[in-house]
Amino acid sequence: MNFISTRGQTEPKTFSQALLMGLAPDGGLMMPETYPQVSEIMLNNWRNLSYKNLAFEIISLFATDIPAQDLHDILARTYTEETFGTSEITPVRSLKDGIKIEALSNGPTLAFKDMAMQFLGNMFEYVLAKENKTLNILGATSGDTGSAAEYALRGKKGVNVFMLSPDGKMSNFQRAQMYSLQDKNIINIAVRGMFDDCQDIVKAVQNDAEFKAKYHISTVNSINWGRIVAQVVYYFAGYFRATKNNSERVSFCVPSGNFGNICAGHIAKQMGLPIDRLIVATNENNVLDEFFKTGQYSPRDTAHTYVTSSPSMDISKASNFERFVFDLMARDSAKVQDLWTQVVQGNGFNLKDQLPEIREKYGFVSGSSTHADRLAIIKSVYETDGELLDPHTADGVKVARELRQTGETIVCLETALAAKFDKTIHEAVGEVSILRPEKLNGLEDLPQRVQVIDANADIVKNIIREKLA
Ligand SMILES: *Cc1c(COP(=O)(O)O)cnc(C)c1O
Repeated sequence: MNFISTRGQTEPKTFSQALLMGLAPDGGLMMPETYPQVSEIMLNNWRNLSYKNLAFEIISLFATDIPAQDLHDILARTYTEETFGTSEITPVRSLKDGIKIEALSNGPTLAFKDMAMQFLGNMFEYVLAKENKTLNILGATSGDTGSAAEYALRGKKGVNVFMLSPDGKMSNFQRAQMYSLQDKNIINIAVRGMFDDCQDIVKAVQNDAEFKAKYHISTVNSINWGRIVAQVVYYFAGYFRATKNNSERVSFCVPSGNFGNICAGHIAKQMGLPIDRLIVATNENNVLDEFFKTGQYSPRDTAHTYVTSSPSMDISKASNFERFVFDLMARDSAKVQDLWTQVVQGNGFNLKDQLPEIREKYGFVSGSSTHADRLAIIKSVYETDGELLDPHTADGVKVARELRQTGETIVCLETALAAKFDKTIHEAVGEVSILRPEKLNGLEDLPQRVQVIDANADIVKNIIREKLA
C-alpha cells in the first residue's frame, strides 16, 4: 500500500515514510492510494477481537511495510488496560435517552488524542530505531495536544520533545500534567505571552531551513497520517459494541474541530463498515456546520475564532477537511489544488451542487452547539444519568439529540473527561465533586519542571542547541 498527497505532486510513500511526515512537500495531506475493503466475513471474524487485535487487523491493511510481528508487538504495548483504564479500551455505554457514548478519553491525558498519540509514540520509536534516525519534536500547545504528545513520547529513544506553552494561561490541571513529567527527553518551555506567540516561535524556527535540517526538527500535529489510521480502529470497535450483528447500521456523532477524528470515521465508512450517518458537531466556531448545511466553506482567521467553553474545538480552519474534499472530488488533485487556492485568496469555496452526494453517499450531516446548550446538556445528563459529561462531549450529545431519527442508533464519541474542565462543569451543575482517575489524585502537588522565557525564537533555538550539544 502506498500513500499519496491530496495535491498530487509528491512521490508515493510507504506507510513508514508517511508516518514521519507532516504536510506533504506539495502542501497536501497524505492519503492511502485506495481504501482496503472489509467483507462480511472479515466483520464477523473481527466482532469479538480484543482492541489490540482489532487494531492489528485494521492497521496492517495499511502498514504493509511493517513486519506483522513487529506491528503486533507495538499494538500490544500501546492498547493496554494499564494505559487506557479498562480491558475494553473504548467501552460503550448508553444514556437514559438511548444515545450511546463511546469512551475515548481514559488515556493518560483524559482526552481522545491519546488513542492515536500513544500509537504514534511507539511507531516513531520503532521507525527511528530501524532507520537509525533521531527526531526533535517542536510544538506549541494551549493544553491538550501538547500533553498528549508528551505522554506519548516520554522516555522514547531517538525523540526529544520541546513543547511551548503560554505562561500562566493553562488550567492548574493542564500545567501539572505537562510540567510534572521528569523524563529527560521532555522539555517544557513556558513563554511569556499567548498561545499565538508560541505558535509564531514554532513557525519562525521551522522557517529557518538550515536550523530545521541540522537539528531534525519535526512536529506532531493533527494532519499526521499515523494519527488518522489509529483512529479508524475505534469506529470499528464502537460499531461492534453498539450492535448485535452486521446487518445493523450505526451513526456516529463527533465533536469536531480539525476534522481529524471524524475523518477517520469517513475512512471506516469507505472501507465498508456499516455506518449510516456521520454527524459533525461543532461549537460556536461553526465553519464546518456551515459547510455541511450550505456547501459554503469559509475558514475564518484567528480574530474571528471565538474562545469557548469547549476550547479544543476552537478551530476555524479544519486542517483535515482537505482529506474528505479529495474523496468528494473523486480524488482529482488539480480540483483540490484549485479549491485551496480560493481558500488562500480568502474567498473560500462553494460545493452546494455536491450536497446530495455529501449526504447520501458519504452520510455527512451537522449541527452546532453554544455555551448555553453545553451547560444545559451537562445539567440534563447529570440529572437523568447521574454522570458528568465533558463540555466537548456535551456538544456532541446536543447535536445527536437534535438530529436523531426514529430508530437510529447514534454513538457519540466522548472526547474528554469532565475532570479536565471543572470550571464549566461547576457553572453547569454547581459545586459538585468531579471524579478523576485515581492515578491522577495529587497531580497538582508533584514537583514541576519548566523554564519560563520571553517570546523570542532565538532563545528557543539556544535551548535546543544546548540540549543536543
Ligand atoms: C482535539 C479535540 C476535539 C476535536 O477533534 P478534531 O480531530 O480536531 O476534530 C474535540 N474534543 C476534544 C476534547 C479534543 O481534545
